[in-house]
Amino acid sequence: MKLELSRVVQGGYRLGVLREIGRASTSSLEVPGCLLYTRCGTVPHLTQDTLHTLSPLPSVTQLTLSTVAEHQEVLEEYKDGFKKFAGLHDTVLYCSLHDPLTPRPAGHVTNKTVSVWGSGGRIELTVGRFMALQKALRPDLYQSMADGETWQGDATSRKRLRKSVDRTLAHLDECLLIHQQTAELQGAEVLGVVEGGDSLEERLRSARETAKRPVGGFCLDGFQTGSMDGPLRTQLISAVAVELPEDKPRLLQGVGRPDEVVACVEAGVDLFESFFPFQVTERGCALTFDLDLSLDPERAGITPSTPVLELELGEELDETWQPERGRDAELEDGAETMTPFEMDLKDTKYRGDFRPLVEGCGCYCCTNHQRAYLHHLLVTNELLAGVLLMLHNTAQYTAFFRALRAALANDQLELFKTRVLRIKRVV
Ligand SMILES: [Zn+2]
Repeated sequence: MKLELSRVVQGGYRLGVLREIGRASTSSLEVPGCLLYTRCGTVPHLTQDTLHTLSPLPSVTQLTLSTVAEHQEVLEEYKDGFKKFAGLHDTVLYCSLHDPLTPRPAGHVTNKTVSVWGSGGRIELTVGRFMALQKALRPDLYQSMADGETWQGDATSRKRLRKSVDRTLAHLDECLLIHQQTAELQGAEVLGVVEGGDSLEERLRSARETAKRPVGGFCLDGFQTGSMDGPLRTQLISAVAVELPEDKPRLLQGVGRPDEVVACVEAGVDLFESFFPFQVTERGCALTFDLDLSLDPERAGITPSTPVLELELGEELDETWQPERGRDAELEDGAETMTPFEMDLKDTKYRGDFRPLVEGCGCYCCTNHQRAYLHHLLVTNELLAGVLLMLHNTAQYTAFFRALRAALANDQLELFKTRVLRIKRVV
């Protein structure tokens, strides 16, 4: 795996291509970019056929160990690895530990074990069992076992943060040792996990120590949305990024909201998980980005009524900011808050709206259906609503990353933020 950077802003973003990923070494992935989110290897709501109506798709598929750990015996008996088991051809398989959307109760880690939550409940993993699972799954890349329990609850003590860094390094050393002795994992890469919660000192120690090990890249854990304020997160990530070798990728876990993604890209992150389109789909919403920066604002639909947040120079985005429609949206119990980048298709105003979800979106949903039909499917609880929304939201999210890379390449990041994120800095 080789990271070729075409552009690096000191202490800031990186633009490039991750080449020769996976055992076949034939795949590449542009950065900043995202992985393809799955549960048990399947993009929620979609079959392989419907998924492949979308092109291009991220070349790396994310499988979370928590969704397959309870099937360990079956996978061991199968012997040919998870890609073949799940019919995932032509993709690079990356295995992470936890599903970013599954709640993780605190208090279930010890010096030697971590717990993951699958459909059947909690599964306790030692490094031995964790590596036996990797051997059965045969991913191309996987994150090492880590004690990431630093962000649940209010204040985690310094002592606990230190312990999480120590345990995670010990798990990494043990994983690497078994990795090197396992024939089934030859050619696969291990990503080391950087922990340390909100402590700068522990973050730096974790980054420096992990960078000394023979890892293929880095997972930045414990920065999940809701775990800390945005400005603190970007400050810590910037500090960690300085300690990591430039030629290895950095994957951030648990952050998917577009404005947070851009802030983290500016702090030096290369890769993100892509659970966000699924969250949007589950609340019956559709992503609506204005991604064509070449259009003038009038034609792009940016009118005085479209909320734009004006920030003073140096001022950070308040994460609670929502434009009017976000604040007004009625949310079901447990649904994550609607963001400014989506429309709520359950709203009765779409009942007779015969436009596609987004003009110019080439996805199957937008080329064949209208907002009114999606509204009808949602209010009648038809399963097809999830299928069509997931197709559209995945298409929009991958297009968002493409447009972000183009903006970085063309020195248009500020324009991108004003147009796509609707955040404007005033001097
Ligand atoms: Zn679409």
